[in-house]
Amino acid sequence: MKAACLHSFTDSDIADVVKIEDVDAPVIEAPNDIIVRIAGAGVCRTDLHIVEGQPIGDGPVPLPHVLGHENAGFVEEVGANVSTVRVGDPVLCYPFLTSGLAPVERRGLENFVGGRATPGINAAGGFAEFLRTAERSVVPLPSNCDPVDFAPLADAGLAAFRACSQAAAVLRPSDTAYVIGVGGLGHLGVQILKVLSPATVVAIDTRADARELAIRLGSDTSFATVGEAVAAFNGRPQAIVDFVGSNATVEAAVNALEVGGRLELVGVDGRIDLPTRLIVESELTVAGSLVGTFAELLELTELVVADRIKVIVDRYPLDEAARALTDLRSGSVLGRAVLLP
Ligand SMILES: [Zn+2]
Repeated sequence: MKAACLHSFTDSDIADVVKIEDVDAPVIEAPNDIIVRIAGAGVCRTDLHIVEGQPIGDGPVPLPHVLGHENAGFVEEVGANVSTVRVGDPVLCYPFLTSGLAPVERRGLENFVGGRATPGINAAGGFAEFLRTAERSVVPLPSNCDPVDFAPLADAGLAAFRACSQAAAVLRPSDTAYVIGVGGLGHLGVQILKVLSPATVVAIDTRADARELAIRLGSDTSFATVGEAVAAFNGRPQAIVDFVGSNATVEAAVNALEVGGRLELVGVDGRIDLPTRLIVESELTVAGSLVGTFAELLELTELVVADRIKVIVDRYPLDEAARALTDLRSGSVLGRAVLLP
């Protein structure tokens, strides 16, 4: 089968290290395995971190490696024990493959299971024609849908959903919430906050086209920076969901929050160096949010099926995987880049 293979790490030209090749297609190994014919695979900032050789989870991935942890497609083949989906069904792939037996999973938290397999991270991913996953990690989709539109939910949407759910829990009708970064995650985060909370939603992005997209998707207003928003708009925010997570956005966010406010961190590119006095005297909460649970992915999928949340997909042929990654790095993708084999 055709796949985009990462052969070495680089922080310069991605086309030098990500090559389209013919590789062995995955096969059924266990009775609950499923082979998915990929319809679309989302391109994530984590893919860029992997390309750069940053350790993800247990360390740098062994090379060569097939990226792609945001996958959707059609069931191609099923193991002997699979009973909940059939060949030809459209499915969305939950990113983690777990047994269901770890104590943390008994609490519903598949996103914290140690040593799990994650296709695209520590197993072959979906920048390919076929992917091996497992029955308990697929979400059946309606028969009339295009799985390409659902692929970004597997990580971008799920991470946005969990973070915005936690932020929404503290939001009241008179409150304001900021979403920092209207990219693959943030364009969904804006809409999720509008569904889950009664607050006024303010989108923050330095890119004018991203701010326009946020408004089109229901954000009440938008600004280029947190500072501009605080200066111009209606008091301080009670919650901020930071999808960028850089030193600069975190510092701006913490200084912007209302008394008792909550900062929800999703982006992982920065460090926190804050005066404890600020946290204490304003009773701030700084929280993290990691991807999401299978149950959260089901809820989010229902919202998209019901057309209450729209996924903005920028389609690229699989052959142009390197270009999609390069465009993501340069900030020129609007919504989520998705590769189509
Ligand atoms: Zn990701």
